[in-house]
Amino acid sequence: MTRDRDGAEGGSGMGAGSGEGPPVGAGLHIVRFAPAKLNLTLAVMGRRDDGYHSLHSVMVPLMLGDALTVSVAPQAIAGDTLRVSGLAVSPGEDNLILRAVVAVRAALALEHPRAGADLPPLSVRLVKRIPVAAGLGGGSSDAAAAIEAALAAWQTTLTPASKAAVAASLGSDVPFFLAQGPAVITGRGEFVEPLPAMQSEPPAVLLVTPGLAVSTPAVFGAFEGGARPADPARARIISENLAARLRAGMTTTALLQEAQQLAAANDLLPAAISVAGELEVFIRSLERLVGRPVCQSGSGPTQWVMYPTLADARKAVRMVRLAVARGNLPTLGDGELSAIATLIAGPTAPPPVRRGVQSDVHFGRANGPRTVHNDSGADVGAPGGSADGPPEPKGDRSR
Ligand code: ATP
Repeated sequence: MTRDRDGAEGGSGMGAGSGEGPPVGAGLHIVRFAPAKLNLTLAVMGRRDDGYHSLHSVMVPLMLGDALTVSVAPQAIAGDTLRVSGLAVSPGEDNLILRAVVAVRAALALEHPRAGADLPPLSVRLVKRIPVAAGLGGGSSDAAAAIEAALAAWQTTLTPASKAAVAASLGSDVPFFLAQGPAVITGRGEFVEPLPAMQSEPPAVLLVTPGLAVSTPAVFGAFEGGARPADPARARIISENLAARLRAGMTTTALLQEAQQLAAANDLLPAAISVAGELEVFIRSLERLVGRPVCQSGSGPTQWVMYPTLADARKAVRMVRLAVARGNLPTLGDGELSAIATLIAGPTAPPPVRRGVQSDVHFGRANGPRTVHNDSGADVGAPGGSADGPPEPKGDRSR
């Protein structure tokens, strides 16, 4: 599909394809890293008139993430397409990536009526590594990465306000991922206050996702029904204190010392347990096994444990695997348990740009996809993209 370059440039400043030549962005492969997130804290502040809950949460991106490659589709292809490899997730039009592309196209059509309506279809490849429906924000992160990648592929921009509106329309966590770094989120997630990076190498985490589905709406429903912490103010106080300390600049050592507090700073934990009763025994068993505080991310079911180094977190992955094999850690639900060692995101050099490939890998405000593979001896791998495929950020996992 081609468009009139003069019309597009004159009317809107958007990039556009020439009526004669290939469409705008043809031959470009935009590669984006889509990190998972952890809620270090999650306080539910109240319920709003629109039915959403207002939150106070300190959120951080992880080195574990998905990879998206977005290209302008060959002219023979009529619509946007998505191919998925790695973990299973539907590649249909309900996938947040395709919904993000549709939403960006619609917003561009409003902002640039002469050019925006006729943007060429996109082909997207997703390497899915973030456990799905696990409280790790995978779908939202993919959506944020797809917004940026679609704009880059079409070589255009949206105003910050309409980009923010597109993000918020796709999901409560999407604005956080657009901000690309640690942040305090308030409202239902639409207010994002970026926080400075940690003052030293960030800690490692063990992520344990039991193989049972926990629906986020069901957890909020249980919270409304009264499944709440005994002390209703505790999570809020811990969350606000942590935000204040991170704003002032916090070291990894100081954060590690807060682990016990963080384990008590998720208001949705009792609700998650009321939705999936087996989770309580699971968490207690995991605590006994690792001998450290166990925290829940978001509405669960992923539980996480902080470690000073990636090597420590990897040891914990092996311990979890062994415990599962020996029946010392209960298996929940129909799915397989996943255990992953990764790092909270830290600063690194910008990724290389290769010929013919815009290796547009963004991770944190100055971060790269440095998640480490189980088998890799190196703690951090350099980010990169290739014409054949996206970078493959990896995490230690046991499935
Ligand atoms: P939330 O708390 O926002 O519900 P989550 O972090 O617990 O999300 P996700 O991995 O984002 O979990 O999956 C939530 C739902 O979104 C799943 O039912 C999944 O099928 C759907 N989904 C749509 N697109 C994607 C995607 N690209 N990746 C993962 N899940 C997706």
